[in-house]
Amino acid sequence: MTAVDLVIRHARVAAESRRPAARYPDLPREDAAARGGLSDLPAHSIGVRAGEIAWILPDGDVDPASFEGAEVIDASGHVAIPGLMNSHTHTPMVMFRGAASDVPTDEWFNQHVWPMEVNLTERDIRLGARLAIGELLLSGVTSFADHYFGMEAIAEEVEAAGIRALLASTFFSSEGPAGRERSVAFARDADGAAGGRITTALGPHAPYTVDDDDLRLTARDAERLGVRVHIHAAENLTQTASSLHRRGRSPIGVLHDTGILQAGAIIAHGAGIVPEDVDLLRPYADRVGVASCTKTYLLHAQEGTTPLRLLHDAGVSVGIGTDGAAGSITLDVLENMRLLGMIEKYTSKDATWATSAHLLDLATRQNAEVFGLAGRVGALRPGLRADIVLMDFRAPHLQPVHDLAHSLALSAHQGDVTTVIVDGRVVVRDRTLLTIDLEAAIDELTERLPALTDRSHGRRVQDYAP
Ligand SMILES: [Zn+2]
Repeated sequence: MTAVDLVIRHARVAAESRRPAARYPDLPREDAAARGGLSDLPAHSIGVRAGEIAWILPDGDVDPASFEGAEVIDASGHVAIPGLMNSHTHTPMVMFRGAASDVPTDEWFNQHVWPMEVNLTERDIRLGARLAIGELLLSGVTSFADHYFGMEAIAEEVEAAGIRALLASTFFSSEGPAGRERSVAFARDADGAAGGRITTALGPHAPYTVDDDDLRLTARDAERLGVRVHIHAAENLTQTASSLHRRGRSPIGVLHDTGILQAGAIIAHGAGIVPEDVDLLRPYADRVGVASCTKTYLLHAQEGTTPLRLLHDAGVSVGIGTDGAAGSITLDVLENMRLLGMIEKYTSKDATWATSAHLLDLATRQNAEVFGLAGRVGALRPGLRADIVLMDFRAPHLQPVHDLAHSLALSAHQGDVTTVIVDGRVVVRDRTLLTIDLEAAIDELTERLPALTDRSHGRRVQDYAP
């Protein structure tokens, strides 16, 4: 048995089983393990060495000599799950949480968010990212895929907080070549930073704000750098209809024709993906994933949600994101996962579809595929990086447990998270964040709110007209 430097004792472990849950959605639900995705291992220990999961063993099989001198976490009454992942967000936008609610999408962009973003300073972006990272870690999210401006400051916040992130510097064609070049330079220079916790992507905003020539150049740069392209596309069915009407091509068709799919992409939302798009996506299923952020679609009364079954049948990974908190109000991955699952059951009139194991698979293993980090994170298995979350299962709303996947997918909430480990390092202990001073960030951000939300200048960073 390998000697370890951190050991979690007496946990109930939601370990990876041999069969991915999403491939077995229709099996009877009486045996969670039989459906794959998740093995329920009571009274187990997890050994971590050099940031990696070294072993997962029954408590009785662990030789005490193997963790002599190691940090020991007693996880009695707790369930250990793989760190949750958020495959699409704009962390600094927590600054605008609740500042533009109960309005339609075009008004949300043109009258509220894009005018407010004119006011942003690097300090605002830094404080917003810090607050968001605090929210993510305390809710059990160990990795996030970010898309924003001022990415150097966000990268520094990631480094300091100890979280994992896939960072993309956003650009519009209206900026001229400078925006694209900034995104390329960031992706090139920051990839592998923070001891490997930071990976990068290119960040064209969307096919309606970045022209085809820039998308072609972006695809070429992504292939040259070996990174993916993180882009908003087919955000809803209205957008797809508008693209078909105006240019005779769906947004996914545009990504196909400009080489973005071939380069590898994280498609934010994809709620406007239609059956005709599937043949374009299928050949690139090994490098293209879709990030679904259901709460935003519901709050904005948008046309369509991410078509999970269509993408599942095409072999395309679907991950769970939250979008920025200006639109979704919270960065709650479990909430977005649960909403997607319930909508899938309700609209398909099929209660056997979108099982709990399948939903957890979206928030963990498939999210890792969307990030391009399959086989590195997204599950509890020896050999993977140690991104581990402990949830206190002694709470009344979590008892009794008949089916662990069901309890995690439909009963657990972010307040049940007590301990968070990223890359083998404890960053949250007893519901306390160890790496960031959140109180100071909140105080400073609160003072800056009047300047941040001022819209009297009459300008905006971009016009929304998809
Ligand atoms: Zn977004």
